[in-house]
Amino acid sequence: MKVLKGAEVSAKIKEEILGQMAGMDGQAPKLAIVRVGERPDDLSYERGAIKKLTGFGLRVQSYAYPADISDREFKEAFDAVNRDPDVSGILLLRPLPEQICEKEIEERIDPAKDLDGISPVNIARVFAGDASGFAPCTAEAVIEILRANEIPIEGKRVTIIGRSMVVGRPLSMLFVRENATVTICHTRTRDLPATCRQAEILVVAAGRAKLVNADHVGQGAIVVDVGIHVDASGKLCGDVDFDSIGERASMATPVPGGVGAVTTAVLAKHLVRAAMKGRVSAD
Ligand code: NAD
Repeated sequence: MKVLKGAEVSAKIKEEILGQMAGMDGQAPKLAIVRVGERPDDLSYERGAIKKLTGFGLRVQSYAYPADISDREFKEAFDAVNRDPDVSGILLLRPLPEQICEKEIEERIDPAKDLDGISPVNIARVFAGDASGFAPCTAEAVIEILRANEIPIEGKRVTIIGRSMVVGRPLSMLFVRENATVTICHTRTRDLPATCRQAEILVVAAGRAKLVNADHVGQGAIVVDVGIHVDASGKLCGDVDFDSIGERASMATPVPGGVGAVTTAVLAKHLVRAAMKGRVSAD
């Protein structure tokens, strides 16, 4: 089984970005990371994004607010970031605390700065097969991994476990745009292993540690693991029991070092695209 390493895909995206930035005048594009509270998952994602984007020569500023900030205060602060002409793109760490109406923030974010595709405008574009918007970075990272490894998608039987708005649903649309034949599995799917075994490409985004094992993997299938968990011994693991699928899968992404590493590279790519569009429209 070939291990599809995220670092190699990320390095290719970096090259692409550096090429685009060479043609840009002025300061490097700036990402605003907006965080409410100190959730460990958010802090870890923020650290990873800062490291990756600054490593690509991009600017990042964190805007952190207390966990008990009121809905009104947060909206005012968010609007200021949203309007700031120095900010080319925004990453909002979610979920937000319950006193803040997340739906209203999704509607307020400038679609041109919405790098993680949470605005209804960008969601509609993804579902319409229109590549001019921003898809959620994690969903796009799955496609980038396949592309960078020259794995054909057209005509393939793709099965995705998970139907969330962050990963499963938008990813199904990205695959349809690439002319794959897509099956979406979820908690009510009957006989999950048998359905998954039909897949030539199996993407697992269920949020259940080691849910998928050899029994779910057809001979020669390519497995992409989106899940991130900390196991009982404190080690990171995915939704796939990686050690069990080696005899069945032809290729698979590891956790850590797979999809996660590419997600932040896609975020960087989106930032540069947002900045290039912003500079053209300001001319
Ligand atoms: P979610 O909980 O919102 O959705 C999980 C989906 O999986 C649901 O649609 C549910 O129906 C389905 N599901 C759950 N258990 C199932 C089962 N036993 N059988 C079949 N379907 C089942 O999760 P999410 O936000 O989509 O995230 C999924 C995973 O990806 C999580 O582990 C999350 O930590 C990870 N994640 C990783 C990145 C990254 O950058 N690598 C980014 C976002 C999320």
